[in-house]
Amino acid sequence: MQKVGFFRSIHLKFVLMYVLLILIAMQVIGIYFAQELEQTLEKNFQESIKDRVNLLEFSVREEMTRQRTEEDPSPEESLKSVLSGFSSDDILEVRIIDSKMRILATSEYENQQLVNQPMVDELVQNSIQSGAQYSKTYLNEDSQRRIWVLAMPVISGGEVIGSLYIESNIEKVYSQINDINQILAGGTAFSLGITVILGILLAQTITRPIADMTKQASAMAKGNFARKVRVYGQDEIGDLAKAFNHLTTRLQEAQSSTESERRKLATVLSNMTDGVISTDRKGRIILINDTALGMLGVPREHVLNRPVPAVLGLEQEHTFEDLVDMQDPVTIDFSDEERPYILRANFSVIQKETGFVNGLIVVLHDITEQEKIEMERREFVSNVSHELRTPLTSMRSYLEALADGAWKDEEIAPSFLHVTQTETERMIRLVTDLLQLSRMDSREYELNTDIVDFVKFFHRIIDRFELMKSKDVQFVRLIPPGPLYTELDMDKMTQVIDNIISNALKYSPDGGNVRFSVQAEDDHIKVAVSDQGMGIPEANVKRIFERFYRADKARSRAMGGTGLGLAIAKEMIQAHGGHIWAESEEGKGTTIFFTLPFEVVEAGEWD
Ligand code: ATP
Ligand code: MG
Repeated sequence: MQKVGFFRSIHLKFVLMYVLLILIAMQVIGIYFAQELEQTLEKNFQESIKDRVNLLEFSVREEMTRQRTEEDPSPEESLKSVLSGFSSDDILEVRIIDSKMRILATSEYENQQLVNQPMVDELVQNSIQSGAQYSKTYLNEDSQRRIWVLAMPVISGGEVIGSLYIESNIEKVYSQINDINQILAGGTAFSLGITVILGILLAQTITRPIADMTKQASAMAKGNFARKVRVYGQDEIGDLAKAFNHLTTRLQEAQSSTESERRKLATVLSNMTDGVISTDRKGRIILINDTALGMLGVPREHVLNRPVPAVLGLEQEHTFEDLVDMQDPVTIDFSDEERPYILRANFSVIQKETGFVNGLIVVLHDITEQEKIEMERREFVSNVSHELRTPLTSMRSYLEALADGAWKDEEIAPSFLHVTQTETERMIRLVTDLLQLSRMDSREYELNTDIVDFVKFFHRIIDRFELMKSKDVQFVRLIPPGPLYTELDMDKMTQVIDNIISNALKYSPDGGNVRFSVQAEDDHIKVAVSDQGMGIPEANVKRIFERFYRADKARSRAMGGTGLGLAIAKEMIQAHGGHIWAESEEGKGTTIFFTLPFEVVEAGEWD
């Protein structure tokens, strides 16, 4: 902060103000006082002179009007003696003048030669003519002193018989006034000095708290709320300091509550499973949580300040203004070849009360799983409808043909009826399989398990197929003598193995081998059924366990397959705690493997 210079400071203003006030007051008082004093002193001086001169006038009048005898001294002598008795410090010279303006006597020793000389003086002349007193102050050029001159008529019997001329030294009065003025000036200077010091001290009582508050305010601006302003007194400035301290406390509270709100919000944002993006009013990203960064797979510094449509990959279809007006969520497909990844973006606008758009909040929600389930459901429904429709259409055409008269033909009718029967059976099988899968999906079934010697159990199933087989296929058994105990539901496991073996027979040509192997591994039994049939293209090997999946649709349907056998087998094996998988080479053959957990049981215990 800029420091206030001395010439602009309150210090100087205060001091100047006081000094000027005192100066003006002293001047006014001084002038009035000096004038009054001068007048009073002058008047007193003149009065005292006049009092004395009045006395003198009486004596002079007596002398001038006295009837003289021979023994009496001459009038000049007697007047001289009157004057000699009349002397003082103030009075410089007294002259007695007769009515003809002739000097009769003078008190001044050096002026004795003037006796009997005419007196040339206007005041004396005026006083003799008018019988009144005249006075005047003038500056003696030689001595540089002020002289007060008084001409007083001597009146006897109503007639002016002469005049007294008095010169007095009034300078003393003026020097007294001068002394007093000097004292006054000294006093003024002294009081001004004290005023300056007091002014500075007084200004400090105001400037110090203000400087303190200024420091405090700049500390607050830097986020330091620990400082407190000192309260110097109970006056208005003290109140201001208290209010300032209160303000500091409130600001600190407000700031800490904002800070904790911010932290809460940050925690909420970072722990949300949804991605949140916030933009400024131009659509540039100003905030993005970790979840959103993870969803978009970008580092924070790459997206901050970038336009949100570009970051979401929507810049082709939508501008920022479109997104602001967007009512419905937008689905954004980030799927690549390896994995599906679909996000749903909801937009809400940050608006001021005025309606001014201040930014946009985008909430991203991962809906991949939802979309996948939805897709599977749609596919499943379409598959089921398709699977049912095919046999139904073929049955309809056969039944129509029969109704149109083919029933009469003994050759054709039985074969047509046979087709409708097979199609019906296929549909029943399909519906049964579907029901079974749906029960497994909703876990509405129980395994009816027993501890079984798997070797014996497997041989029995293979025996059944060997008896019934219609193809010229060689069965090869690579099965240890056993027993190998495992816990299984015999009905369900029979169904699984039936399907695997019937697949092997269905999809192999005449003359091939079907090999059965059982191996005891660490904690499980590993079973494999291999054929030398047509095999499955490598890309589709994994898919044969999907519902309704058939590698060669037309062919497997012709063989009466529904495409649900291996899907059921997979669920069953997993329910038994095992795994199932396939290995295949197109044109060479296929091997289906599965495992079952091992039960270690003493030999002979369960036979
Ligand atoms: P279902 O078993 O329900 O009667 P299906 O045999 O067609 O019908 P799955 O047993 O689930 O259905 O088999 C799925 C698909 O996997 C078959 O349609 C076939 O294309 C392929 N497949 C299964 N086993 C073999 C195999 N041993 N050799 C070649 N392809 C096979
Ligand atoms: Mg099958």
